[in-house]
Amino acid sequence: MGQMMAMPLLISSLIKHAARHAGETEIVSKRVEGDIHRYTWASAERRSRQLAQALARLGCEPGDRVATLAWNGYRHLEIYYGSSGSQLVCHTINPRLFPEQIAWIANDAQDRILCFDLNLLPLVEKLAPELSSVQHFIAMTDRAHMPAQTSLPGLLCYDELLDAEDAAYVWPEFDENTACSICYTSGTTGHPKGAVYSHRSTLLHTYASALPDALDCSARDVILPVVPMFHVNAWGLPYSCALIGCKLVLPGPHLDGKSLYELFESEKVSFSAGVPTVWLGLLNYVKANALKFSTFKRTVIGGSACPPAMMKTLQDDYGVEVIHAWGMTELSPIGTLAKLTTRQLELPKDKQQRLLEKQGKVVYGIDMAIADDQGRALPWDGVAFGNLLVRGQWVINQYYGQTTSPLVTLDGEPGWFPTGDVATIDPDGFMQITDRSKDVIKSGGEWISSIELENVAMAHPDVAEAAVIACVHPKWDERPLLVVIKKAGTELTREGLLAFFDGRIPKWQVPDDVVFVNEIPHTATGKIQKLALRQQFKDYRLPGV
Ligand code: AMP
Repeated sequence: MGQMMAMPLLISSLIKHAARHAGETEIVSKRVEGDIHRYTWASAERRSRQLAQALARLGCEPGDRVATLAWNGYRHLEIYYGSSGSQLVCHTINPRLFPEQIAWIANDAQDRILCFDLNLLPLVEKLAPELSSVQHFIAMTDRAHMPAQTSLPGLLCYDELLDAEDAAYVWPEFDENTACSICYTSGTTGHPKGAVYSHRSTLLHTYASALPDALDCSARDVILPVVPMFHVNAWGLPYSCALIGCKLVLPGPHLDGKSLYELFESEKVSFSAGVPTVWLGLLNYVKANALKFSTFKRTVIGGSACPPAMMKTLQDDYGVEVIHAWGMTELSPIGTLAKLTTRQLELPKDKQQRLLEKQGKVVYGIDMAIADDQGRALPWDGVAFGNLLVRGQWVINQYYGQTTSPLVTLDGEPGWFPTGDVATIDPDGFMQITDRSKDVIKSGGEWISSIELENVAMAHPDVAEAAVIACVHPKWDERPLLVVIKKAGTELTREGLLAFFDGRIPKWQVPDDVVFVNEIPHTATGKIQKLALRQQFKDYRLPGV
């Protein structure tokens, strides 16, 4: 056997490290109250221990779930560390979900404590009667901001709880395979499902995600996660920022273009991460006001396909490098990122660009494959597409509370997680998502990628947002329908837009029709809600049908 120390991989070690080695480095938060709060990693660690003490005093025992309904802010960060670090399980809930869904999730997870940001008080008051397991409600604020009246029984004040503790708490050591947090998938069909991460899986994900060919995080960065801390742990940034000890900027609920731009500039943000829709808002604002970024250099875009046109604008007009990434709740979430090798940097620029537009290569720790419906491996030729399967150190092997395994076999070998995505993989290992398996358009036995059609539409200068769905067709089974929001003040026509597809994709894939709308529905995590769109257009008759 090896003769090395067996130090468990624990989340508390991240914040201990940050406090000791980047103790004076700032964490800046835009609060729900509207002001800016500043403190350091050293203070964050001290307060996380005070929270751990306070939670124990409230009767929490190892394994108990501590839920949050909160935006990106320093108190939320303290709950990440204070709960997981003391062997409790941090359960971040997306406040943008329907209240019935939130209640279902909190009951399924058997949350014992619910901490919430003050502006979500009305939501929590509405939910409270439905929450069967919650014993304590904690408002994440100070005494001065506590509501004068509330229907919540025995509402506790977060800052007051912490102030009552002396921070003598010592982070405990325990098995690294212990659960540290739980996130529920957005679940477009059926009930959401819980992914339970372990300290070990989270630490390995943190190491891997900070690497140069992954997020490339460094202590010289100022990092602002736009991606919410309730969306798969803000893609792990609250952990990786502690690992590298960089300045962290947390934007609170203020994610409009103006608020983000001002925070990027005033705090000298160099690196960020978020879903495509947030960048739409920020880009519109900087464009309308003829602004430039002075420090913003790099961003990770994922969660849905990043339209190449958005990537180009960020790169060419604003000098912001875009790292396209793919992942999912079941993967903690990072799976692949598009970064070029030395050899690929010698390719002509347009070839480089096409690689960067793909979802990219796996980081070490994740293994992937594409398979046909019978579970047979498909070639990595960039052409064959099939069900994307993954396995790895931070991939779930079971959903919370379920007894049947979600895993499938690949060429007879068990232990692969079916992602529900359809993809190609090229000989260099660059993966490209062509669709969610349920969103792919099946036309006359051939598959059409809705993402590819959306990317073409988004490249039209008059298109603000585009979504492609399948419509029933008597001859072809399904044909694509393009749903579009025009940019304000433009005169885009159906014919003009369809002509734009000529030469960009094979003729038989061109959408059969275009519908202009004022709004496209989004899920609570900012993805286009294809299911709702299909529902909306279920009786739509394509031309000639
Ligand atoms: P979630 O678990 O809510 O993060 O959703 C995961 C799903 O989002 C994946 O299975 C993909 O369908 C989709 N997704 C994430 N990143 C990308 C991306 N870069 N391109 C296309 N789809 C993506």
